Amino acid sequence: MPSVLIKTYGCQMNERDSEQVASMFLAGGYTLTTDEAEADVILINTCAVREKAELKALGKMGLLCARPDAKPWVVYGFMGCMVQSRAQSLFRDINRLDVVTGTRQYHNVYAICNRLLKSRLGMGLTEPLKRGAHICEVGEVEGFQNEIRDHLPPSGGCTAFVSIMQGCEMRCSYCIVPSTRGAECSRPAADIIKEVRELVDHGGVKEVTLLGQIVNRYGREEPVVNGRGAFVRLLESLHDIDGLERLRFTSPHPIGFREDLVNAYTYLPKLCSHIHFPMQSGSDRILQLMRRPYKNEKYLRLCDAMREARPDLAITTDIIVGFPGETDEDYQQTKAAVERVQFDNAFVFQYSPRRDTVAAAMPDQICLRVKEERNHDLLETVNRIATARNMALVGTEQSILVEGPSKSNPDRQQGRSSQNKPVIIQKGKAEVGKIVPVRITECTGFTLYGEVGN
Ligand code: SF4
Repeated sequence: MPSVLIKTYGCQMNERDSEQVASMFLAGGYTLTTDEAEADVILINTCAVREKAELKALGKMGLLCARPDAKPWVVYGFMGCMVQSRAQSLFRDINRLDVVTGTRQYHNVYAICNRLLKSRLGMGLTEPLKRGAHICEVGEVEGFQNEIRDHLPPSGGCTAFVSIMQGCEMRCSYCIVPSTRGAECSRPAADIIKEVRELVDHGGVKEVTLLGQIVNRYGREEPVVNGRGAFVRLLESLHDIDGLERLRFTSPHPIGFREDLVNAYTYLPKLCSHIHFPMQSGSDRILQLMRRPYKNEKYLRLCDAMREARPDLAITTDIIVGFPGETDEDYQQTKAAVERVQFDNAFVFQYSPRRDTVAAAMPDQICLRVKEERNHDLLETVNRIATARNMALVGTEQSILVEGPSKSNPDRQQGRSSQNKPVIIQKGKAEVGKIVPVRITECTGFTLYGEVGN
């Protein structure tokens, strides 16, 4: 039985796409392996959000292809966003590479690799190949989103990611995703509902996270019905699935974020009390340079409205510091917005220029020293607020979905609150996959500790 090794870089969307590819190889009679020496097919799913992610994938594949003792017939392939932006040029970087497939070709990866492997096994190769097959598939496939179906049964896990759409038609000046993931494409709601029902009925899944580059624009070509758009109607349909206990989604955007989604927090109790809502900057001048077509006031109003709809809502975010042209005044506006929203956590990124983006060519690029100062300064503010918000939970009772052994201490178990906070509990007090009441007894900056209640 041939084996396949799939290594994934990048976002949850990439993890989900790799799962889809893996399930097609399993259905084709392959086994999954993490052993590079054993693998007959080696695939790397790539990310193009930052230069570093690309260099890491290129470095790894270069080493794999150069192994002197590798099986001569091994099929080497790149998938994903880096392929979409670099395509054929990857064969110049790594001559032994066989296959590169773009973000709209995941459903074709198995067929391409299996055909190539079969032909090689038939050749009785003994010597390592110098040149790969150089097969490049980056085209758009009509209806590819309807191919997103198979889902690996979660490995005993009680949570799962489900892609609902792909692509993004925003034009943020620093982002490469629209050119790598293409235009927005939403999956049919019926397919998503069927997939989630199967995960719950047959996979023991209790919590599902809906994935998309810009989820609240799911099905935006569909009409609004009784004041609810396609995304909220999808949330309602999934909410009705017996056995599904929790629903999450990532990532939304202020554009297209309407009242119906805010209201959903008032009548969909399975919708978790956490939203990851990228703010990027608190300065309207910088938002304009980022080509994010809204004012920060709109973002703040949405956060207030959601907190009114769901008072215990935890909000986390992404922020870029050191964007070209960012003055100290702009930075102070970002810091003030962080104080204003009181985020439960924030991922702070130093702006790094991306090839082929508008921002990379902008004047007034900020020097590394200033980027690091602002990054450090903002993280201090974020950590202080996050710790205070976690401290406020000590003494309260939280509902925790028990996920398994604690990553840091195998003598303990770990779970997540509805606010998406990791909670450490005593071992053997609760079954994995169960939602249990936990009294929070202490906390560090980002982790809570507690005792399982009765
Ligand atoms: S919304 Fe902006 S940052 Fe997000 S994926 Fe689309 S273009 Fe990129």
